Amino acid sequence: MTVVTMKRSASIKDIGAVLRTVESLGFTPHVQHEDGATRIGLIGEGSPDQIRQLLSLPGVAGLEPVATPYKLGSRNFRKAGTEVYVGDIPFGGEEVVVIAGPCAVESREQMMITARAVAGSGGLILRGGAFKPRTSPYSFRGLGREGLEILAETRKETGCPVVTEVLTPADAELVAQYADMLQIGARNMQNYSLLEAVGRIRKPVLLKRGLMATIEEFLLAAEYILAAGNPNIILCERGVRGFEQYTRNALDIAAVPLLKKLSHLPVIVDPSHATGRRDLVIPVALAAVAAGADGLIVEVHHDPDHAMSDGAQSLNLEQFDDMMSRLIPLSKAVDRRIRPTSQQN
Ligand code: PEP
Ligand code: MN
Repeated sequence: MTVVTMKRSASIKDIGAVLRTVESLGFTPHVQHEDGATRIGLIGEGSPDQIRQLLSLPGVAGLEPVATPYKLGSRNFRKAGTEVYVGDIPFGGEEVVVIAGPCAVESREQMMITARAVAGSGGLILRGGAFKPRTSPYSFRGLGREGLEILAETRKETGCPVVTEVLTPADAELVAQYADMLQIGARNMQNYSLLEAVGRIRKPVLLKRGLMATIEEFLLAAEYILAAGNPNIILCERGVRGFEQYTRNALDIAAVPLLKKLSHLPVIVDPSHATGRRDLVIPVALAAVAAGADGLIVEVHHDPDHAMSDGAQSLNLEQFDDMMSRLIPLSKAVDRRIRPTSQQN
């Protein structure tokens, strides 16, 4: 990809002329405004000569190649960090945003109890799976549409946006009708038709790293969503599969600062699926924020020992409250902050 950088003095007319020219050459332009200047990323095949001729157009300052395989998600395309809003909550700014809730929506009561506690302790966004990818087809696979309805009720009750997983392209529109953010699970990170389907929907996407995905594969998965027209992506490191048996996955803590360096997209960490163990969730959550994560997604259940999925890694309500209290000074130490709860205001 080549980026056409426009002069700050370029007029709307100049920018329009560049866009028309690049489209006539067969490129799809991706426009970015940064520091008062416009940058236009050219996606498509074109000869170096065709690209060079753009330099003669009024308002064009220069051309910058983006050599990495991922383009629109690269820091070379956009130098500043992107802030992704879920409802009115920004990821990628000063705040560390905590998403929390049960692995799966099990019932109205379970969701309401957990949601009220999460919101009361400072969680800003609720999670809960309605369509669950399970290793065994005989495990609880979620309540489906009823689960989505419960999530929407929970949002109404608490005022918190909700995130839930979408498993297939055919479900994408349905899930988007209910959810404020669409989750692509680790098992689906390379389901390219699903990535394109959520790319066509303009809702924010929480993209989880695949079980054995390299950083480059992860960023290329995000690229599918970006190329389909959706710039609202939050990357989630949730551990990759290793040889260790005492933990569920191997959290790649270096992935956090690395992704932030290679890409402008916000990065969060899932300490629940990374460890698989309730007793390790809090220290790993603290480590993630210390490493620069823009947020966390944490499994919380009011009665983890009776959860229908992932109970072993779910914090109870008290532990979640403890985690939130501990995140406040830690965030401050790395020049970030946790939004105070209404009680603390
Ligand atoms: C989940 O968030 O409940 C989940 C299934 O996560 P992952 O896709 O990371 O395994
Ligand atoms: Mn889970």
